[in-house]
Amino acid sequence: MKTIGLLGGMSWESTLSYYQSINQGVKEQLGGLHSAKIALYSVDFAQIEQLQHCGDWQQTAVILSQAAKNVEAAGADCLLICTNTMHKVAEQIQAEISIPILHIADATAEQLLKDKVTKVGLLGTAFTMEQDFYKSRLVDKYGIEVLVPDTAQRQRVHQIIYTELCLGTISDDSRDEYLQIVDDLAKRGAQAVILGCTEIALLIGPSDTDVPLYDTTAIHAQKAVQFSLSKDD
Ligand code: GLU
Repeated sequence: MKTIGLLGGMSWESTLSYYQSINQGVKEQLGGLHSAKIALYSVDFAQIEQLQHCGDWQQTAVILSQAAKNVEAAGADCLLICTNTMHKVAEQIQAEISIPILHIADATAEQLLKDKVTKVGLLGTAFTMEQDFYKSRLVDKYGIEVLVPDTAQRQRVHQIIYTELCLGTISDDSRDEYLQIVDDLAKRGAQAVILGCTEIALLIGPSDTDVPLYDTTAIHAQKAVQFSLSKDD
């Protein structure tokens, strides 16, 4: 079994989901008392969030690259950046380590294409929904068309992530707002919706809507399980 490296704490609410999902995946496949080999480095999210919102992505890359080196030094064979947003600096981090980063958008796109979904809605932070680093990977590398909510809806989705979900607050009103936005995306032609922020599955899930939801946390975690248990390398 290979060791899975996790760059977590962004936020720690979703790092918990990663830890649980990876261990469950290994248990399902190997049974008994088996559990995943994991090396986790968890950052202080307040510092990262401040840098994001003042646009200092370069400094986030410095902090996360150092953390990634620590994960590699701890014996990890791969690295998961446990947030969609911080994949904005994935290339800079990859340049500093020799273990592979398993990219969250690649894992998600592979699952979408397997399910023949070629037009998808995307929910996430404003950075993820509005900037190019994530959407263009889905479009250019996989030919998947991406729809995002309108301006006011994007602001609400972003606000709820930082002021509620990353603080562990789960509210029925916010769930209703998210479900309305999911419905609107489906009405505009989305065959499915990507939960492109690792905390969103804490708020909405498949039992809340008929629109297929792609939980990036669960998909990314299972990609890591596959990597860890594969025999080929
Ligand atoms: N976990 C979130 C994501 O997947 C948001 C927190 C962050 O900005 O890293 O994008």
